[in-house]
Formats: sequence, structure tokens, C-alpha cells
Amino acid sequence: MKTIAITGAASGIGAATAKQLESEGHRVIGVDIQKADITADLSTPDGRSQAVDQILEKSGGQLDGFVPCAGLSALPDRPPSLVVSLNYFGSIEMIAGLREALAKSGEASVVGISSNSTTSTPGLPLELVELLATGDEEAARALADKIGAADENGWVMGYPSSKMALARWIRTQSVRDEWIGQGINLNAVAPGKTETALLEEGRAHPIMGQHIDAFPVPVGRSGRAEEIASLICFLLGPNARFIVGSVFFIDGGTDAEFRANDFPSPMPTPPI
Ligand code: NAD
Repeated sequence: MKTIAITGAASGIGAATAKQLESEGHRVIGVDIQKADITADLSTPDGRSQAVDQILEKSGGQLDGFVPCAGLSALPDRPPSLVVSLNYFGSIEMIAGLREALAKSGEASVVGISSNSTTSTPGLPLELVELLATGDEEAARALADKIGAADENGWVMGYPSSKMALARWIRTQSVRDEWIGQGINLNAVAPGKTETALLEEGRAHPIMGQHIDAFPVPVGRSGRAEEIASLICFLLGPNARFIVGSVFFIDGGTDAEFRANDFPSPMPTPPI
């Protein structure tokens, strides 16, 4: 039996992951802003540090897995600063805060939740992604809100930027000694349109709803939370120990439809 902490465990992909893990006999410590073993607001530094303390207390200081699943979508009336604080800092600060507990396992896994919006949002602002990577939350929040106010589509950008920064953080950190050298495998999944409360909330919005409906999904339907959970559970499991720093698109073909030849791409030729 493994002990695995999951944020966003009250709903959608997090809840489906918790259910599958529990059905396999594992112990899940759920964290959410509502209806969870630990309630905390992960969009704030205080909420994150309280959540880390409580996970450490409940787990006895040793964890076999962690899935930072809590997230908010972009909406025209939602501050982009809130989206980047929760989706990016609410993931990476929690992962970092739990590193020592994960290292004690000897064979631990972290699965971050990116998104296929990273590769399907025209004009994604790389300057925000790069600022997020510096770890300066206040500056990134200010830039996200500035971009949000700059033009009629600016409000969208905090979401894919937070998810791209998260995917990059996971890939960058995954190969470092403090992670893989301590037996902690870091990977990410990048879901497409998946039927959860988050998608429903977007669909109900007159502007966001149009974007969601127009989004092509070659398989002909949106995903189910259980399908994303199955991939997450595989990545948490014993047969995934050779998988390090990978980002798995699970989106019914949307990314392939938009960008079939962008990945894999060759390494640039080094200068002579
Ligand atoms: P969901 O709304 O069903 O679940 C999100 C959970 O996060 C909820 O339980 C919610 O209470 C919690 N949460 C919200 N704000 C919080 C806060 N401040 N502190 C702590 N918890 C908070 O949505 P979901 O679709 O299951 O989303 C899970 C993850 O998957 C998110 O990171 C989301 O960005 C990502 N994702 C979803 C889709 C999709 O189409 N559903 C696609 C790509 C990525």
C-alpha cells in the first residue's frame, strides 16, 4: 500500500484519481479548498505551506506519490493572477515542499497536470512563461493581469502560460539530482477537453463556451476524468519507473491535429 497526496481531490480528475488509487488499496490524502481531508486555499503561499504541514503530519513524513491537480480555468471575469497562482505556484511549491517526504519513499512519483492548451493557444505569451520560471509570484501575477487587460483575448493567456510553465518546470527539475537522484520521478499529463466541473463552468460562460465548443477533438468526443486518472495512476505505479520528465498528451488527438510535425523535433546543430 502506497500513500499518495492529491490536491483538487474533491472533484473531476483529482477525485477520479483518488477513487482509482483507493480501489487499488492505496491510501490517499486529499487536499482541496472544500470537502477534503485537508482544506486549504492553494492559490496563496500561506495556504500551500499549511497544506504541506498537514500532509506531512498525516503521512508521518513519508509519501510515495503526489498529484497536484487543483486548478482553475480562465474566464473573462476571473483574474489571470489567481489562475497563475493556483495552477503554477499551487503545483510547484507543493511539489517542492513535499520533496523530502517523497525522497524517504525511495521510489516516489509526482504527476503534474499540464494541458493541451499549451500547444493550441495562438499567441501564448512566452514572456509570462519565462517570468513564472523565475519563481517571482508577485511579478508574474502583475504581468498576467496586465496581459489580461491588454486586449479582448488577454484573459485566456494566464491558463496556458501557467500550464506551459508547469510542464517546463517538471521537465527541467526531473533530471536533477534532488529529484531523480533521490528516486523521485517527475512527469506530467496534458489533458484536452475533459468532462469535469471545470469544463462545465467554461461551457456555461457565453464567451468561453464558444471557444470550448469550437475546439476540435479528432476522436469525436471529450475525455472522461477516469481516462485521465488511469494514465496518472500508471505514472504513479511500479511499471513507470523508466519514465522521467515526460509530458503525456491525452486529448483525443487535438495536439496531433494542430501540430503533427512540431514534435519530435531535432536538436539544433551546435555552432562550430
Ligand atoms: P475540477 O473543477 O473538477 O477540479 C478542480 C478542483 O480544484 C476542485 O475540486 C476545486 O475545488 C479545486 N480548487 C479550486 N480552487 C482551489 C484552491 N484555491 N485551492 C485548492 N483547491 C482548489 O476540474 P478538473 O478538470 O478535474 O481539473 C483538474 C486539473 O486538470 C486542473 O489543474 C485543470 O487545469 C486540469 N485540466 C483540466 C482539463 C479539462 O478539460 N477538464 C483539461 C486540461 C487540464
